[in-house]
Amino acid sequence: MNTCKYGTNRVIEPKGVLPQAALRVNNTMEIFDNEILIDVITLNIDSASFTQIKKACDNDVVKMEKMILDIVKTKGKMQNPVTGSGGMLIGSIAKVGKSFPDKSIKVGDKIATLVSLSLTPLKIERINSVNIENDQVNIVGQAILFESGIFAKVPNDMDQHLVLAALDVAGAPAQVDKLVKEGDTVAIIGAAGKSGVLCAYQAMKNVGSTGKVIGIVNEEKQITLLKDLELCHEVILADATNAMEVYEKVLEANKEAVDVTINVVNVQNTEMSCILITKDTGIVYFFSMATSFTKAALGAEGVGSDVTMIIGNGYTKGHAELTLNLVNNAPKIKQLFERIYT
Ligand code: NAP
Repeated sequence: MNTCKYGTNRVIEPKGVLPQAALRVNNTMEIFDNEILIDVITLNIDSASFTQIKKACDNDVVKMEKMILDIVKTKGKMQNPVTGSGGMLIGSIAKVGKSFPDKSIKVGDKIATLVSLSLTPLKIERINSVNIENDQVNIVGQAILFESGIFAKVPNDMDQHLVLAALDVAGAPAQVDKLVKEGDTVAIIGAAGKSGVLCAYQAMKNVGSTGKVIGIVNEEKQITLLKDLELCHEVILADATNAMEVYEKVLEANKEAVDVTINVVNVQNTEMSCILITKDTGIVYFFSMATSFTKAALGAEGVGSDVTMIIGNGYTKGHAELTLNLVNNAPKIKQLFERIYT
């Protein structure tokens, strides 16, 4: 029997919503004919969620394991109740329903899901390890992908944990590629993070020799990192939650507001930094899951800014290919990711 292609039959409460908005989904691992069953290897908890869990558990891995298990037990999916966000996973296909549309996949294929864990039915048997440094959680468990769920096959010639890390944020550099034009001045808030370096690379490529990329980071060592990676024309040390500090420092460095700002931090209250440093005619791209629509909308209005603000859709066409190609074509970023994620 088929189920709704968006998985709504699995929503337990409240009825009528899609799985992402559901408080609880049915995580019985009996698949419908248009679903896939995955034996999960690793979860990549999204950074805003992982940061919140780490803080709530005082960096205690045992407490973090318990918190993750409790969330999944209660909700049937790994959706952080505070941030609302999820992450993604890698695993191998255990079963393919007979009417699942993509006939190219087969049992045993290793895939990375490209839909959020915040809507993916998940059952964890046990947690093998939590890597506090890189947001990855190795588990024994299973997950369900709906008919509408997108995924990428893990390439044989790349490390699976590196692929998982890169694809988690694949939407960010792919959107930068869409938004940034030759000659633009671009600010990247959180430039030394995982999506930050990918966005900085893509922005450097797109602005060409006439544009400028400014990284904003909150630690000295991140300035060194970006210099070593040959990313950003200029790096500014500032706290993204301190809007006036960011505004003054960017204006001092650039003499005017920037064309495009990319927000890739993992903490709250950074909306106004982005809005203040961006031209009226410019664009702010909020990829951060800690972004508040209310703070951004009312904040922009409050300072009379006509800036265009874009919500960071995690998906854009071709995002997985673009991101994996980027990593393969940028040896220094690849080495960095191998050091952190493999
Ligand atoms: P990440 O690797 O943890 O990077 C975040 C960066 O922000 C880090 O370098 C961090 O520095 C920096 N930062 C934190 N607080 C700051 C502050 N006050 N001022 C300046 N910089 C600060 O995270 P990521 O994996 O790239 O993810 C970035 C964001 O994208 C997260 O919010 C994540 O949840 C979100 N995300 C969105 C989607 C989507 O579909 N839109 C998908 C995946 C992830 P420290 O290391 O010093 O804290």
